[in-house]
Amino acid sequence: MPTIDDVRALAMSLPGTTEARVRGRVKFRVGRIVYLAFSRDETELGFAFPKEQREWLIGGDPEKFMLPAAGDLRYNWVLARLAALAEVEMRALVLDAWRMVVPKKVSLLICDVGPRDGLQNESTILDPPVRAELIERLAGAGLSRVEAVSFVNPALVPPMAGAEEVMGLVKRKPGTVYSGLVLNEKGYDRARAAGVDAINYALPVTDTFARRNQNTTVADAIATGRRLVARARADGLPITLTLSVAFGCPFEGPVAPARVFEVVGQALETAPDEVVVADTIGVGVPRQAKELVSGLVRLGVRRAGAHFHNTRNTGLANALAALEAGAEVLDASVGGAGGCPFAPRATGNIATEDLVYLLEGQGVRTGIDLDALIEIAGWLGNQLGRELPGMVSRAGPFPGEPARA
Ligand code: ZN
Repeated sequence: MPTIDDVRALAMSLPGTTEARVRGRVKFRVGRIVYLAFSRDETELGFAFPKEQREWLIGGDPEKFMLPAAGDLRYNWVLARLAALAEVEMRALVLDAWRMVVPKKVSLLICDVGPRDGLQNESTILDPPVRAELIERLAGAGLSRVEAVSFVNPALVPPMAGAEEVMGLVKRKPGTVYSGLVLNEKGYDRARAAGVDAINYALPVTDTFARRNQNTTVADAIATGRRLVARARADGLPITLTLSVAFGCPFEGPVAPARVFEVVGQALETAPDEVVVADTIGVGVPRQAKELVSGLVRLGVRRAGAHFHNTRNTGLANALAALEAGAEVLDASVGGAGGCPFAPRATGNIATEDLVYLLEGQGVRTGIDLDALIEIAGWLGNQLGRELPGMVSRAGPFPGEPARA
């Protein structure tokens, strides 16, 4: 039987853990999924999965393990593991149980940012009608949110010119959210006038990037963010704060998570609907993804999300780590379209079809039609005149058409 200190060390090593004393019992809440609770005399340990409202007490005696009468097989599996448990296996056991319930518990939204982040960094510029068609195709494939446009200066970002025209052309599908990226209040005015359903405000976390990308400072960008959240609330628009260069800055190098949390802490005073950490230049690794997302959860953001570029081939690993740490929104772009203005040969965002393939295989239902996405990736590649880097669209789904022997 592990001691309370063993369990404390185990629990606190997992992201997002909190300790509390509830009705005389010590309870550890691990993420939002598993509770570990001691009996009052601290000789027995219980596991609870909050939504199921079930709890099993585990004492030193295997006869004391209680199986639920109509238990879910997965929980019986947990109990079987517990029965065979040696103290040294506690960490692995809890991690497994935690991961096992992720597919069922997770509420995940995939936002396709291809029409914005993807196209913005492609050398071929697409006309508004083609961009509108891309947006419609994505909604048709089941994407519940599409970042359709960016309200930036068209002289500085020519592929994003005509945002209003694109928004006017899109035949909207009920239930799909069409969002727009803004960098300042002027962009917000345009976004609102163009009738977007949601606002995404890019908030840089380093001063050099803030100056180079949107001619501001971090302090001013935070102040702008607060005003935009207040305005969005008054206008009834959901608003996301996306923290640019949260994993590393092309000008200032590595960015400490503490810096990111400091910015979030200041920005949170007006409580945006969502806070997303963005690996703008694709330098992040899963350890960082876990640390940053679990930090957002701990800071009490309403919904945490993450945005990855696959520049160094760590994008999907980062996405999975972010999901396990509590992210409820992941950005991706169909085909992996895009690049990075700060790294000439870089690839774009993680490919939406690769992410959907991965998540569905993991048991996370995305509601997105993978075959349709693959078709869109092919279509978009033709429009852009190049083969896009997404891998599932090239290899095909599995199982798919049987190969010829
Ligand atoms: Zn991006």
